[in-house]
Amino acid sequence: MNDIDTIAAIATPPGEGGIGIIRISGPESLRILDEVFECAGDSGELVERRLTYGRIVDRENNQLIDECMAVFMKGPATYTTEDVAEIDCHGSMVSLKNTLGLVLRKGARLAEPGEFTKRAFLNGRIDLSQAEAVIDVVKAKTDKSFDVAISQLEGGLSLRVGQVRSLLLDLLVDITVNIDYPDEDIEEITLEKIDDALLIVIGRIEDLRATADAGRMLREGVKMVIAGKPNVGKSSLMNALLRENRAIVTEIPGTTRDTIEESVNIRGIPVHLIDTAGIHSTEDVIEQMGIERSKDAFNQADYIIMVLDGSQPLGEEDRKLLEAAGEKCSLALLNKRDLGEAVAEEEIASILPKAGILRTALRDGLGIAEIEDHIEEFIWGSSRLEQRADRVMVNNVRHIHLLEKAEEDLQRARQMIERNEPLDFIEVDVRSAFDALGEIIGETVNDEILDEVFSRFCLGK
Ligand code: GDP
Repeated sequence: MNDIDTIAAIATPPGEGGIGIIRISGPESLRILDEVFECAGDSGELVERRLTYGRIVDRENNQLIDECMAVFMKGPATYTTEDVAEIDCHGSMVSLKNTLGLVLRKGARLAEPGEFTKRAFLNGRIDLSQAEAVIDVVKAKTDKSFDVAISQLEGGLSLRVGQVRSLLLDLLVDITVNIDYPDEDIEEITLEKIDDALLIVIGRIEDLRATADAGRMLREGVKMVIAGKPNVGKSSLMNALLRENRAIVTEIPGTTRDTIEESVNIRGIPVHLIDTAGIHSTEDVIEQMGIERSKDAFNQADYIIMVLDGSQPLGEEDRKLLEAAGEKCSLALLNKRDLGEAVAEEEIASILPKAGILRTALRDGLGIAEIEDHIEEFIWGSSRLEQRADRVMVNNVRHIHLLEKAEEDLQRARQMIERNEPLDFIEVDVRSAFDALGEIIGETVNDEILDEVFSRFCLGK
Protein backbone atom coordinates (compact mmCIF):
# COMPACT_ATOMS: atom_id res chain seq x y z
CA MET A 1 0.00 0.00 0.00
CA ASN A 2 2.96 2.23 0.61
CA ASP A 3 3.82 2.65 -3.05
CA ILE A 4 3.78 6.45 -3.03
CA ASP A 5 6.98 7.70 -1.48
CA THR A 6 7.96 11.22 -0.56
CA ILE A 7 10.30 13.00 -2.93
CA ALA A 8 12.52 16.04 -2.46
CA ALA A 9 14.76 18.23 -4.60
CA ILE A 10 16.35 21.64 -4.85
CA ALA A 11 13.87 23.63 -6.98
CA THR A 12 16.00 26.70 -7.72
CA PRO A 13 18.92 26.83 -10.19
CA PRO A 14 22.45 26.09 -8.94
CA GLY A 15 24.59 29.07 -7.99
CA GLU A 16 24.35 31.91 -5.49
CA GLY A 17 21.05 33.69 -5.00
CA GLY A 18 18.91 35.55 -2.51
CA ILE A 19 17.05 32.40 -1.64
CA GLY A 20 17.12 28.76 -2.67
CA ILE A 21 14.12 26.47 -2.35
CA ILE A 22 13.85 22.84 -1.31
CA ARG A 23 10.62 21.22 -2.36
CA ILE A 24 9.17 18.09 -0.74
CA SER A 25 6.08 16.19 -1.94
CA GLY A 26 4.38 13.06 -0.67
CA PRO A 27 2.65 11.60 2.38
CA GLU A 28 5.65 12.12 4.69
CA SER A 29 6.17 15.81 3.87
CA LEU A 30 4.82 17.22 7.12
CA ARG A 31 6.59 14.67 9.32
CA ILE A 32 9.91 15.36 7.57
CA LEU A 33 9.46 19.13 7.81
CA ASP A 34 8.67 18.81 11.53
CA GLU A 35 11.83 16.83 12.08
CA VAL A 36 14.18 19.27 10.37
CA PHE A 37 12.52 22.63 11.05
CA GLU A 38 12.22 24.63 14.28
CA CYS A 39 10.08 27.73 14.51
CA ALA A 40 12.08 30.69 15.78
CA GLY A 41 11.59 34.23 17.03
CA ASP A 42 7.94 34.96 17.79
CA SER A 43 6.68 32.98 14.80
CA GLY A 44 4.90 30.48 17.04
CA GLU A 45 3.69 27.23 15.51
CA LEU A 46 3.90 25.96 11.94
CA VAL A 47 0.43 26.74 10.54
CA GLU A 48 -0.72 25.25 7.23
CA ARG A 49 -0.12 27.56 4.25
CA ARG A 50 1.59 30.22 6.36
CA LEU A 51 5.21 30.97 5.58
CA THR A 52 6.98 30.67 8.92
CA TYR A 53 10.37 31.89 10.05
CA GLY A 54 12.68 29.38 11.69
CA ARG A 55 15.80 27.25 11.48
CA ILE A 56 16.88 24.02 9.89
CA VAL A 57 18.54 21.96 12.59
CA ASP A 58 20.20 18.56 12.46
CA ARG A 59 19.01 17.42 15.88
CA GLU A 60 21.05 14.20 15.99
CA ASN A 61 24.26 16.16 15.63
CA ASN A 62 22.94 19.25 17.31
CA GLN A 63 23.95 21.34 14.34
CA LEU A 64 22.36 24.49 12.94
CA ILE A 65 22.22 24.26 9.15
CA ASP A 66 20.54 27.51 8.10
CA GLU A 67 17.96 30.13 8.96
CA CYS A 68 14.98 29.84 6.69
CA MET A 69 11.28 30.26 5.98
CA ALA A 70 9.14 27.15 5.62
CA VAL A 71 5.61 26.34 4.55
CA PHE A 72 3.44 23.25 4.58
CA MET A 73 0.50 22.75 2.18
CA LYS A 74 -1.94 19.92 2.55
CA GLY A 75 -3.09 18.19 -0.64
CA PRO A 76 -4.99 18.12 -2.90
CA ALA A 77 -4.78 21.87 -3.56
CA THR A 78 -1.05 21.72 -4.32
CA TYR A 79 1.17 21.47 -7.40
CA THR A 80 1.35 17.68 -7.20
CA THR A 81 -2.01 17.28 -5.37
CA GLU A 82 0.01 15.58 -2.61
CA ASP A 83 1.06 17.09 0.71
CA VAL A 84 3.84 19.52 -0.12
CA ALA A 85 6.45 21.31 2.00
CA GLU A 86 8.82 24.03 0.87
CA ILE A 87 11.85 25.40 2.63
CA ASP A 88 13.29 28.76 1.56
CA CYS A 89 16.94 28.66 2.57
CA HIS A 90 19.62 31.21 1.87
CA GLY A 91 20.60 30.78 -1.76
CA SER A 92 23.93 29.11 -1.10
CA MET A 93 24.78 25.68 -2.46
CA VAL A 94 26.20 24.70 0.97
CA SER A 95 22.98 25.49 2.75
CA LEU A 96 20.83 23.86 0.06
CA LYS A 97 22.91 20.69 -0.12
CA ASN A 98 23.04 20.29 3.65
CA THR A 99 19.31 20.92 4.03
CA LEU A 100 18.47 18.51 1.21
CA GLY A 101 20.86 15.93 2.70
CA LEU A 102 19.06 16.16 6.02
CA VAL A 103 15.62 15.87 4.36
CA LEU A 104 16.79 12.74 2.50
CA ARG A 105 18.17 11.21 5.73
CA LYS A 106 14.73 11.72 7.27
CA GLY A 107 13.20 9.47 4.64
CA ALA A 108 12.59 11.42 1.43
CA ARG A 109 13.92 10.15 -1.88
CA LEU A 110 15.73 12.45 -4.32
CA ALA A 111 13.21 13.37 -7.04
CA GLU A 112 13.96 12.57 -10.65
CA PRO A 113 13.86 15.41 -13.21
CA GLY A 114 10.23 16.37 -13.82
CA GLU A 115 8.93 14.08 -11.11
CA PHE A 116 6.87 16.76 -9.33
CA THR A 117 5.12 17.59 -12.62
CA LYS A 118 4.78 13.90 -13.44
CA ARG A 119 2.94 13.42 -10.17
CA ALA A 120 0.67 16.38 -11.00
CA PHE A 121 -0.13 14.53 -14.25
CA LEU A 122 -0.50 11.04 -12.75
CA ASN A 123 -2.70 12.44 -10.01
CA GLY A 124 -4.94 14.02 -12.64
CA ARG A 125 -4.40 17.70 -11.87
CA ILE A 126 -3.08 18.47 -15.34
CA ASP A 127 -3.06 16.51 -18.59
CA LEU A 128 0.03 15.57 -20.55
CA SER A 129 0.00 18.55 -22.92
CA GLN A 130 -0.21 20.84 -19.90
CA ALA A 131 2.67 19.02 -18.22
CA GLU A 132 4.73 19.51 -21.37
CA ALA A 133 3.83 23.20 -21.36
CA VAL A 134 5.49 23.51 -17.95
CA ILE A 135 8.87 22.88 -19.62
CA ASP A 136 8.12 25.48 -22.28
CA VAL A 137 7.06 28.06 -19.71
CA VAL A 138 10.29 27.54 -17.80
CA LYS A 139 12.41 27.71 -20.96
CA ALA A 140 10.62 30.50 -22.88
CA LYS A 141 13.05 33.20 -24.00
CA THR A 142 10.64 35.83 -25.33
CA ASP A 143 7.18 37.19 -24.47
CA LYS A 144 5.47 35.55 -27.42
CA SER A 145 7.02 32.13 -26.74
CA PHE A 146 5.89 32.50 -23.15
CA ASP A 147 2.32 33.41 -24.22
CA VAL A 148 1.98 30.24 -26.28
CA ALA A 149 3.35 28.08 -23.47
CA ILE A 150 1.17 29.60 -20.77
CA SER A 151 -1.93 29.21 -22.94
CA GLN A 152 -1.10 25.52 -23.33
CA LEU A 153 -0.51 25.23 -19.59
CA GLU A 154 -3.92 26.79 -18.99
CA GLY A 155 -5.41 24.01 -21.08
CA GLY A 156 -6.01 25.81 -24.40
CA LEU A 157 -4.67 22.99 -26.52
CA SER A 158 -6.33 20.35 -24.34
CA LEU A 159 -9.68 22.05 -24.89
CA ARG A 160 -9.26 22.08 -28.68
CA VAL A 161 -8.14 18.47 -28.77
CA GLY A 162 -10.95 17.50 -26.40
CA GLN A 163 -13.54 19.10 -28.70
CA VAL A 164 -12.25 17.20 -31.72
CA ARG A 165 -12.19 13.98 -29.73
CA SER A 166 -15.75 14.40 -28.59
CA LEU A 167 -16.88 14.79 -32.22
CA LEU A 168 -15.07 11.56 -33.03
CA LEU A 169 -16.57 9.85 -30.01
CA ASP A 170 -20.10 10.73 -31.16
CA LEU A 171 -19.28 9.31 -34.54
CA LEU A 172 -17.78 6.14 -33.03
CA VAL A 173 -20.90 5.60 -30.96
CA ASP A 174 -23.13 5.92 -34.05
CA ILE A 175 -20.95 3.56 -36.03
CA THR A 176 -20.71 0.99 -33.23
CA VAL A 177 -24.46 0.98 -32.61
CA ASN A 178 -25.04 0.38 -36.30
CA ILE A 179 -22.53 -2.45 -36.37
CA ASP A 180 -23.81 -4.15 -33.21
CA TYR A 181 -27.55 -3.66 -33.66
CA PRO A 182 -28.09 -3.48 -37.41
CA ASP A 183 -31.66 -4.73 -37.18
CA GLU A 184 -32.88 -2.55 -34.33
CA ASP A 185 -35.11 0.36 -34.93
CA ILE A 186 -32.38 2.99 -34.74
CA GLU A 187 -31.48 5.67 -37.13
CA GLU A 188 -29.26 4.10 -39.71
CA ILE A 189 -26.03 5.93 -40.26
CA THR A 190 -25.22 6.42 -43.90
CA LEU A 191 -21.71 6.42 -45.29
CA GLU A 192 -22.43 9.90 -46.53
CA LYS A 193 -23.14 11.13 -43.01
CA ILE A 194 -19.95 9.56 -41.73
CA ASP A 195 -17.99 11.20 -44.49
CA ASP A 196 -19.47 14.61 -43.66
CA ALA A 197 -18.53 14.19 -40.02
CA LEU A 198 -15.01 13.09 -40.95
CA LEU A 199 -14.55 16.15 -43.13
CA ILE A 200 -15.47 18.45 -40.26
CA VAL A 201 -13.02 16.73 -37.93
CA ILE A 202 -10.25 16.78 -40.54
CA GLY A 203 -10.85 20.52 -40.97
CA ARG A 204 -10.40 21.07 -37.24
CA ILE A 205 -7.21 19.04 -37.18
CA GLU A 206 -5.86 20.99 -40.15
CA ASP A 207 -6.60 24.26 -38.37
CA LEU A 208 -4.43 23.10 -35.50
CA ARG A 209 -1.71 21.79 -37.78
CA ALA A 210 -1.64 25.12 -39.59
CA THR A 211 -0.26 26.69 -36.41
CA ALA A 212 2.61 24.21 -36.18
CA ASP A 213 5.21 26.20 -38.12
CA ALA A 214 4.62 29.37 -36.16
CA GLY A 215 4.41 27.39 -32.92
CA ARG A 216 7.70 25.65 -33.57
CA MET A 217 9.43 28.90 -34.51
CA LEU A 218 8.17 30.64 -31.40
CA ARG A 219 9.37 27.79 -29.26
CA GLU A 220 12.73 27.06 -30.89
CA GLY A 221 13.43 30.36 -32.63
CA VAL A 222 13.32 31.35 -36.29
CA LYS A 223 16.45 30.34 -38.17
CA MET A 224 17.19 33.38 -40.26
CA VAL A 225 19.97 33.56 -42.82
CA ILE A 226 21.34 36.87 -44.01
CA ALA A 227 22.85 36.24 -47.45
CA GLY A 228 24.40 38.32 -50.19
CA LYS A 229 27.70 38.82 -51.94
CA PRO A 230 30.49 40.62 -50.08
CA ASN A 231 30.20 44.29 -49.25
CA VAL A 232 26.46 44.68 -49.86
CA GLY A 233 25.61 45.43 -46.23
CA LYS A 234 25.01 42.07 -44.49
CA SER A 235 27.05 42.93 -41.42
CA SER A 236 25.42 46.35 -41.25
CA LEU A 237 22.03 44.63 -41.19
CA MET A 238 23.15 42.14 -38.60
CA ASN A 239 24.47 44.93 -36.41
CA ALA A 240 21.36 46.99 -36.79
CA LEU A 241 19.27 43.99 -35.79
CA LEU A 242 21.43 43.18 -32.83
CA ARG A 243 21.76 46.87 -31.95
CA GLU A 244 25.31 46.17 -31.00
CA ASN A 245 28.51 45.74 -32.96
CA ARG A 246 29.24 42.05 -32.73
CA ALA A 247 29.88 41.38 -36.44
CA ILE A 248 32.79 43.18 -38.07
CA VAL A 249 31.82 45.94 -40.47
CA THR A 250 34.52 46.51 -43.04
CA GLU A 251 35.14 47.94 -46.52
CA ILE A 252 37.22 44.92 -47.63
CA PRO A 253 35.08 42.29 -49.41
CA GLY A 254 34.79 38.79 -48.00
CA THR A 255 36.16 39.18 -44.51
CA THR A 256 33.11 37.60 -42.93
CA ARG A 257 34.20 34.15 -43.99
CA ASP A 258 32.77 32.05 -41.25
CA THR A 259 29.12 32.09 -40.48
CA ILE A 260 28.40 34.03 -37.33
CA GLU A 261 25.39 33.19 -35.23
CA GLU A 262 23.61 35.49 -32.86
CA SER A 263 20.23 35.34 -31.25
CA VAL A 264 17.94 38.30 -30.94
CA ASN A 265 14.43 39.04 -29.74
CA ILE A 266 12.47 40.67 -32.58
CA ARG A 267 9.02 41.84 -31.44
CA GLY A 268 8.81 38.94 -29.01
CA ILE A 269 9.91 36.37 -31.58
CA PRO A 270 13.18 34.56 -30.89
CA VAL A 271 15.39 34.82 -33.98
CA HIS A 272 18.71 33.08 -34.58
CA LEU A 273 20.59 35.18 -37.08
CA ILE A 274 23.05 33.39 -39.32
CA ASP A 275 25.34 35.58 -41.38
CA THR A 276 27.07 33.87 -44.30
CA ALA A 277 29.92 34.64 -46.63
CA GLY A 278 27.52 34.43 -49.56
CA ILE A 279 27.68 32.21 -52.58
CA HIS A 280 29.97 33.50 -55.30
CA SER A 281 32.30 31.95 -57.82
CA THR A 282 35.88 32.22 -56.75
CA GLU A 283 39.20 30.38 -56.93
CA ASP A 284 39.78 31.08 -53.30
CA VAL A 285 39.51 27.87 -51.29
CA ILE A 286 38.44 29.56 -48.11
CA GLU A 287 35.72 31.46 -49.98
CA GLN A 288 34.52 28.21 -51.49
CA MET A 289 34.14 26.72 -48.04
CA GLY A 290 32.03 29.77 -47.33
CA ILE A 291 29.85 28.92 -50.33
CA GLU A 292 29.22 25.40 -49.08
CA ARG A 293 28.34 26.78 -45.69
CA SER A 294 25.88 29.20 -47.26
CA LYS A 295 24.16 26.39 -49.09
CA ASP A 296 23.98 24.40 -45.86
CA ALA A 297 22.64 27.45 -44.11
CA PHE A 298 19.98 27.92 -46.83
CA ASN A 299 18.83 24.36 -46.30
CA GLN A 300 18.40 24.88 -42.57
CA ALA A 301 16.87 28.34 -42.78
CA ASP A 302 13.27 29.21 -42.05
CA TYR A 303 13.68 32.68 -43.51
CA ILE A 304 16.34 34.10 -45.82
CA ILE A 305 17.03 37.78 -46.26
CA MET A 306 18.97 38.49 -49.46
CA VAL A 307 20.92 41.72 -49.34
CA LEU A 308 21.72 43.31 -52.71
CA ASP A 309 23.53 46.51 -53.55
CA GLY A 310 20.64 48.38 -55.16
CA SER A 311 22.91 51.16 -56.37
CA GLN A 312 24.68 48.78 -58.79
CA PRO A 313 23.06 46.82 -61.62
CA LEU A 314 22.19 43.24 -60.70
CA GLY A 315 25.18 40.98 -61.45
CA GLU A 316 25.46 37.32 -62.39
CA GLU A 317 26.49 36.55 -58.84
CA ASP A 318 23.39 38.19 -57.38
CA ARG A 319 21.17 36.18 -59.70
CA LYS A 320 22.87 32.92 -58.76
CA LEU A 321 22.41 33.70 -55.10
CA LEU A 322 18.74 34.56 -55.51
CA GLU A 323 18.16 31.36 -57.43
CA ALA A 324 20.06 29.27 -54.88
CA ALA A 325 17.94 30.68 -52.07
CA GLY A 326 14.76 30.05 -54.08
CA GLU A 327 11.39 29.98 -52.34
CA LYS A 328 12.96 30.31 -48.92
CA CYS A 329 14.11 33.81 -49.79
CA SER A 330 11.36 35.71 -48.03
CA LEU A 331 12.81 39.17 -48.33
CA ALA A 332 15.15 40.91 -50.78
CA LEU A 333 16.75 44.19 -49.76
CA LEU A 334 17.88 46.71 -52.35
CA ASN A 335 20.43 48.33 -50.09
CA LYS A 336 22.46 51.53 -50.38
CA ARG A 337 19.46 53.44 -51.64
CA ASP A 338 21.30 56.62 -50.68
CA LEU A 339 23.74 55.86 -53.52
CA GLY A 340 21.06 55.38 -56.15
CA GLU A 341 18.49 52.98 -57.56
CA ALA A 342 20.10 50.90 -60.30
CA VAL A 343 17.97 47.79 -59.76
CA ALA A 344 14.25 47.81 -60.54
CA GLU A 345 11.97 45.95 -58.16
CA GLU A 346 10.45 44.11 -61.14
CA GLU A 347 13.84 42.53 -61.82
CA ILE A 348 13.78 40.82 -58.43
CA ALA A 349 10.11 39.95 -58.72
CA SER A 350 10.78 38.21 -62.05
CA ILE A 351 13.23 35.86 -60.28
CA LEU A 352 11.38 35.46 -56.96
CA PRO A 353 7.72 36.39 -57.39
CA LYS A 354 6.80 35.70 -53.75
CA ALA A 355 9.61 37.49 -51.92
CA GLY A 356 9.05 40.85 -50.25
CA ILE A 357 11.21 43.68 -51.63
CA LEU A 358 12.42 46.69 -49.67
CA ARG A 359 14.77 49.57 -50.42
CA THR A 360 17.07 50.20 -47.49
CA ALA A 361 20.08 52.16 -46.31
CA LEU A 362 21.30 49.74 -43.70
CA ARG A 363 24.38 51.66 -42.74
CA ASP A 364 22.08 54.39 -41.47
CA GLY A 365 19.48 51.99 -40.05
CA LEU A 366 16.88 52.95 -42.68
CA GLY A 367 14.41 50.16 -43.37
CA ILE A 368 15.01 48.15 -40.20
CA ALA A 369 11.48 48.70 -38.88
CA GLU A 370 10.01 47.51 -42.21
CA ILE A 371 12.26 44.43 -42.11
CA GLU A 372 10.98 43.65 -38.62
CA ASP A 373 7.39 44.14 -39.83
CA HIS A 374 8.05 41.60 -42.55
CA ILE A 375 9.50 39.04 -40.13
CA GLU A 376 6.49 39.43 -37.88
CA GLU A 377 4.10 39.03 -40.80
CA PHE A 378 6.00 35.92 -41.90
CA ILE A 379 5.50 34.25 -38.52
CA TRP A 380 1.87 35.15 -37.97
CA GLY A 381 0.97 34.71 -41.62
CA SER A 382 1.86 31.04 -41.40
CA SER A 383 -0.81 30.37 -38.80
CA ARG A 384 -4.52 31.01 -39.26
CA LEU A 385 -6.09 34.04 -37.71
CA GLU A 386 -8.70 32.42 -35.55
CA GLN A 387 -6.07 30.26 -33.88
CA ARG A 388 -4.24 33.31 -32.72
CA ALA A 389 -7.14 34.84 -30.84
CA ASP A 390 -6.90 32.28 -28.05
CA ARG A 391 -3.15 31.88 -28.58
CA VAL A 392 -3.51 28.13 -29.06
CA MET A 393 -0.65 26.84 -31.14
CA VAL A 394 0.84 23.46 -31.65
CA ASN A 395 4.54 23.79 -30.93
CA ASN A 396 5.61 20.34 -29.89
CA VAL A 397 6.92 17.72 -32.32
CA ARG A 398 5.14 14.96 -30.45
CA HIS A 399 1.82 16.74 -30.84
CA ILE A 400 2.45 17.54 -34.49
CA HIS A 401 3.14 13.87 -35.27
CA LEU A 402 0.02 12.74 -33.45
CA LEU A 403 -2.16 15.26 -35.29
CA GLU A 404 -0.68 14.07 -38.59
CA LYS A 405 -1.35 10.48 -37.63
CA ALA A 406 -4.96 11.21 -36.68
CA GLU A 407 -5.50 12.99 -39.98
CA GLU A 408 -3.99 10.10 -41.96
CA ASP A 409 -6.27 7.64 -40.13
CA LEU A 410 -9.31 9.72 -40.97
CA GLN A 411 -8.29 10.11 -44.60
CA ARG A 412 -7.97 6.33 -44.77
CA ALA A 413 -11.45 6.01 -43.30
CA ARG A 414 -12.72 8.28 -46.07
CA GLN A 415 -11.09 6.08 -48.70
CA MET A 416 -12.89 3.08 -47.20
CA ILE A 417 -16.15 4.94 -47.49
CA GLU A 418 -15.41 5.68 -51.11
CA ARG A 419 -14.82 1.98 -51.71
CA ASN A 420 -18.01 1.09 -49.84
CA GLU A 421 -16.15 -1.06 -47.31
CA PRO A 422 -18.01 -2.43 -44.26
CA LEU A 423 -18.50 -0.23 -41.19
CA ASP A 424 -16.12 -2.35 -39.09
CA PHE A 425 -13.21 -1.30 -41.27
CA ILE A 426 -14.08 2.36 -41.00
CA GLU A 427 -14.50 2.06 -37.27
CA VAL A 428 -10.93 0.78 -36.85
CA ASP A 429 -9.44 3.92 -38.40
CA VAL A 430 -11.74 6.32 -36.60
CA ARG A 431 -10.83 4.68 -33.30
CA SER A 432 -7.16 4.87 -34.13
CA ALA A 433 -7.47 8.63 -34.78
CA PHE A 434 -9.39 9.02 -31.51
CA ASP A 435 -6.54 7.28 -29.66
CA ALA A 436 -3.84 9.34 -31.37
CA LEU A 437 -5.56 12.53 -30.21
CA GLY A 438 -5.85 11.01 -26.74
CA GLU A 439 -2.09 10.59 -26.66
CA ILE A 440 -1.64 14.36 -26.96
CA ILE A 441 -3.41 14.93 -23.67
CA GLY A 442 -2.12 11.69 -22.15
CA GLU A 443 -5.40 9.73 -22.01
CA THR A 444 -4.00 6.89 -24.05
CA VAL A 445 -0.30 6.86 -23.44
CA ASN A 446 2.28 4.30 -22.36
CA ASP A 447 5.03 4.53 -19.74
CA GLU A 448 7.79 4.80 -22.32
CA ILE A 449 6.32 8.00 -23.72
CA LEU A 450 5.81 9.38 -20.23
CA ASP A 451 9.44 8.70 -19.32
CA GLU A 452 10.54 10.36 -22.55
CA VAL A 453 8.43 13.46 -21.89
CA PHE A 454 9.46 13.93 -18.28
CA SER A 455 13.16 13.22 -18.82
CA ARG A 456 13.39 16.63 -20.52
CA PHE A 457 12.55 18.49 -17.34
CA CYS A 458 15.02 20.07 -14.98
CA LEU A 459 15.47 18.86 -11.42
CA GLY A 460 12.99 20.09 -8.89
CA LYS A 461 10.18 20.75 -11.43
P1 GDP B 1 28.91 42.83 -45.91
O1 GDP B 1 30.25 42.52 -46.47
O2 GDP B 1 27.83 42.38 -46.81
O3 GDP B 1 28.74 42.35 -44.51
O4 GDP B 1 28.76 44.44 -45.90
P2 GDP B 1 29.02 45.47 -44.73
O5 GDP B 1 27.83 45.57 -43.85
O6 GDP B 1 30.33 45.15 -44.11
O7 GDP B 1 29.07 46.81 -45.54
C1 GDP B 1 30.08 47.04 -46.49
C2 GDP B 1 30.30 48.53 -46.66
O8 GDP B 1 29.13 49.12 -47.19
C3 GDP B 1 30.58 49.23 -45.32
O9 GDP B 1 31.52 50.24 -45.53
C4 GDP B 1 29.25 49.84 -44.99
O10 GDP B 1 29.37 51.02 -44.21
C5 GDP B 1 28.70 50.19 -46.33
N1 GDP B 1 27.24 50.24 -46.34
C6 GDP B 1 26.37 49.35 -45.79
N2 GDP B 1 25.11 49.77 -45.98
C7 GDP B 1 25.17 50.95 -46.65
C8 GDP B 1 24.19 51.85 -47.14
O11 GDP B 1 22.98 51.69 -46.98
N3 GDP B 1 24.64 52.93 -47.82
C9 GDP B 1 25.98 53.16 -48.02
N4 GDP B 1 26.32 54.25 -48.68
N5 GDP B 1 26.92 52.32 -47.57
C10 GDP B 1 26.54 51.22 -46.89
